[in-house]
Amino acid sequence: MEKLPYPSKKVTRATAKQMLARLEQMYPDARTALEFHNPFELLVAVVLSAQCTDARVNLTTPALFARYPNAQALAAASLTDVEEIIKSCGFYRAKARNIVAAAQGMVEHHGGEVPAEREALEALPGVGRKTASVVLAVAFGQAAFAVDTHVFRVAHRLGITLGKTPEDVEHDVTALLPREKWGHAHHWLILHGRKICKAPIPLCGICPLADVCPTAPLVLKKKRAGR
Ligand code: SF4
Repeated sequence: MEKLPYPSKKVTRATAKQMLARLEQMYPDARTALEFHNPFELLVAVVLSAQCTDARVNLTTPALFARYPNAQALAAASLTDVEEIIKSCGFYRAKARNIVAAAQGMVEHHGGEVPAEREALEALPGVGRKTASVVLAVAFGQAAFAVDTHVFRVAHRLGITLGKTPEDVEHDVTALLPREKWGHAHHWLILHGRKICKAPIPLCGICPLADVCPTAPLVLKKKRAGR
């Protein structure tokens, strides 16, 4: 099938809210698939998960955290040793550099702890808005909505946003929800993107949102035309 264009018009606010309510019903227990025991482990796991599956990260982090159980230990690590352990996660040189430098930043400025403020988190090497949002929401229970590739795609296909950047998408989705649901909504959209609204071809035929989703008719039309 050819690449699917995103809808050019947003659905109404009422429809968008209804879509999010249905996603909440579909994925009431949605949570991160990354395994971690504390904010330090979560932050490192999220950095490693860029362009890598959560399952692969979960296979890698036990050895990493056994050797470097906290920011102090990781800050003093040799880059080549870290690279060797995380090699299977992809982009391992940059990721090793970033997690060691982030650990050094935590030791230098935050007593070896992960800071619980967005500005301080984003000042750590390798920590962008998405990683900071995941850490704030998952580790600290704060109102934050992270936009990754699944969230971006699903929110566009549903016509909830026309945003060009992750920040635009964050703005549009969070405007539809009370703050206490922002962190959960991130997981609803990710799970839906992984299980049903897949890239490149969504499974609209089994999607409980198909009756309200503006992309579904397009997918069915293309299917009938064999494209
Ligand atoms: S109907 Fe299709 S495009 Fe719309 S959310 Fe469901 S799977 Fe995605």
